[in-house]
Amino acid sequence: KDDIELVKSNINSYPDFPKSGILFRDIFSIFNNPKAAKVLDSVLLRYVKKIVPQTDVVVALESRGFLFGPTLALEMGVPFVPVRKKGKLPGIVYQKSYALEYGTDILEIQASSIQRGQKVLIVDDLIATGGTLEASCQLVRQCGGEVLQCLVVMELQDLKGKEKVSAQVESFIKF
Ligand code: 5GP
Repeated sequence: KDDIELVKSNINSYPDFPKSGILFRDIFSIFNNPKAAKVLDSVLLRYVKKIVPQTDVVVALESRGFLFGPTLALEMGVPFVPVRKKGKLPGIVYQKSYALEYGTDILEIQASSIQRGQKVLIVDDLIATGGTLEASCQLVRQCGGEVLQCLVVMELQDLKGKEKVSAQVESFIKF
């Protein structure tokens, strides 16, 4: 609908970035238009309040997930927990290596960040192959959390990333 169209029209696309053959969708450009950024936030909040109001914790992924996760968590009145690339988080962490659309990496979460049984919503900007979200689901479960759902702004449908993720994935914009 209109809200989604406004968001979509404010996402810039860059051919051959960061590698030849990749069409990069840049969610940062949404913040060039504050109205579009607010609309996106309200779309996400409306969805969460309606579909997963029982969310105890919002987890978001470095770095573009951090553009939405903390705001959403504040609006829901629940804690925000980061998943980051290896070596960035202090204290005791759990690690999960994963393959992404271009390369491999290790993700980490702080071991004490989620209490056993807490219901977790995972947020990121985009699902490509699904490797990042699946690694995050596993990290949340390792902490004792229950993954309610993953929420992303954009989905690259051809890559069938949803099939790799062991939780339901909702996306608002399909490319
Ligand atoms: P996946 O693990 O699903 O293959 O890749 C998703 C991750 O890579 C996300 O964290 C996302 O931010 C990043 N990513 C992959 N392709 C793109 C893209 O075209 N645009 C943006 N913004 N991020 C991408």
